[in-house]
Amino acid sequence: MQAKIRRICWFYNYLLKMEPQYFKSIILYNLITITNPLVSLYFSKNIINSIFEAKDLPEVMVYVGQMVFFNLLMMMAGGYLQSRNQYYTLSLSKQHIMEKAKKLMEIEYYHIETDKLQNTMSELQYLETTGIHNFSSFGKNVGIFIGNLTGIVISTYFSIAFLKADFDYRGFSNGTINFMFVILFILLNVLSFNIISKSNKETGQASNETNHIFRYVRSYLNIIYNYRVGKDIRLYNRALADNVGEVYRGKMSEIYTSFWSVYGKGIIKSELLSNLLSVVISLFVGIKAIYGTISVGEIMLYIGTINLISTNANEMVRSLSVIISSDLYREKLYRFMELNSLVKNEDEGLIQKARDGRWEIEFKNVSFKYPDSNQYALKNINLKIKTGEKLALVGTNGSGKTTLIKLLLRLYKPTEGQITLNGSNISNYQYDDYLDIFSVVFQDFRLLSLTLGENVAISSEYHYEEVKKSLQKVGLSEFIEKHDLNTYLYRELNENGMEISGGEAQKIAMARALHKKGQIIILDEPTAALDPISEHEIYSRFNELIGENMAIYISHRLSSCCFCNSICVLHDGVLLQQGSHEELLSDVEGKYHQLWTSQAQYYKVS
Ligand code: ADP
Repeated sequence: MQAKIRRICWFYNYLLKMEPQYFKSIILYNLITITNPLVSLYFSKNIINSIFEAKDLPEVMVYVGQMVFFNLLMMMAGGYLQSRNQYYTLSLSKQHIMEKAKKLMEIEYYHIETDKLQNTMSELQYLETTGIHNFSSFGKNVGIFIGNLTGIVISTYFSIAFLKADFDYRGFSNGTINFMFVILFILLNVLSFNIISKSNKETGQASNETNHIFRYVRSYLNIIYNYRVGKDIRLYNRALADNVGEVYRGKMSEIYTSFWSVYGKGIIKSELLSNLLSVVISLFVGIKAIYGTISVGEIMLYIGTINLISTNANEMVRSLSVIISSDLYREKLYRFMELNSLVKNEDEGLIQKARDGRWEIEFKNVSFKYPDSNQYALKNINLKIKTGEKLALVGTNGSGKTTLIKLLLRLYKPTEGQITLNGSNISNYQYDDYLDIFSVVFQDFRLLSLTLGENVAISSEYHYEEVKKSLQKVGLSEFIEKHDLNTYLYRELNENGMEISGGEAQKIAMARALHKKGQIIILDEPTAALDPISEHEIYSRFNELIGENMAIYISHRLSSCCFCNSICVLHDGVLLQQGSHEELLSDVEGKYHQLWTSQAQYYKVS
């Protein structure tokens, strides 16, 4: 329990740090919603008393006017706050995506390629889309909890006068009657709490049990509804799609049956109890009114406020149990975030800052095996590259090109040998400073469901013109005339988000690399989905854009890289040849010549 409470505080602070106004606005909204019926009750009491006792029309009108005025005021404030809440929720979901992306970047890369982290990420994403787990549910329930707690305090304050009201009924004193009432009231409420908590607990368990069914449902839904993969299934396999529909319906009915059996029954029981409670309260106030000295207006006020204490308490318990039972998500998020800080600490202390504008990278006898593999992915690599040079890594799939880049970017450490930057081992540089000098576009680059501008800048704050310039440079001038930088990509966060083509996505990823202004540019086959001629064009264009910076290009298509000063041919993790295109081609016995001639039959490059 202690750990759960710690995580609740951690999550509260996490959200608060991202959006300081979120909780203020949501709590204020709940306070208004909760106090609204109390204000109405208070004025109604005055109105009824004036009608029955004073019979004074102007006085009645004043109270009616006051009630209408306060109600209007609260309605307006509530409406305003609700729209603020929506804004903050959207802003939070965007910042949360950024935060996760930022953490993913800081994490030791080994974790990223493991199934465990991949699973955690997909579980997080899944939980974020389910009812009680996401942060908007957390925020809402924190607001409900605080609002209802305040409601109880105010209602109790109003109801105290009722307990004091003079009363005598056939020997039962006021104190005895109050005592009996309070005991009955507490008893019924505790019973109701128990039913709600039990039902919530069972629903939580059922939801854990149905998690795996949900996972099926989600993947089936993806197949049916996802507009990106939907095309394939329509074209290739309608029978499969029909089958998916059947399975989906079956699984959904399993889920509903399971939920109804616990949740539905709990609701019926607690509704019955709360009605019983209302009857007890009405009877009690009624008896006191008949035999005591309570006015008609007060009868209504007390029935209302005592009922409110009970509803507020129920809501408070419900919100608290939702907050507590959604711990599964916080636990996963917390572990994920912790993973990052642990890794980051390792680098502290190594603060030799990379400031020099001219760079020289050297691989010295570098060999590497992946952590869970016995085979060398790279064997005894020796190579050098300086600012102003363009190096190409070519070779068939699986020859070790990407692995070499991963080592250079410190995603892994070499098993043997070392990589130096300006003579110092790269692991001696402060990690963030080191990465700052690189602009990389990977083959499996990801664009986020954020706005176009945010995707290029990888930040929600950016210089509009700078981002625009980067997009223009990669040939997206027309694109940004049609689509503003504030247009969302994809439809996850915004229903008007745009679908972009593969080519456009690649250009946006390139613009992102240009915008980062790294002094060492790496393109790791981000164009693999394109035909060889287009790939060649993009590589040449990028080459012009980056000017005198150092660049490393990777491709399994030799034609894309023949303009580079130096080409390294990798095969099975071994650096077979290095030289210019002409030099390598002239070696007719070499691997390069063999690859070139075998690829040349598919396309011709001028
Ligand atoms: P390329 O980029 O030239 O296509 P890679 O560098 O991706 O080749 O892969 C080189 C070798 O390392 C391949 O045999 C590949 O199967 C292996 N490899 C790549 N990534 C991993 C990994 N995360 N774990 C284990 N082996 C890997």
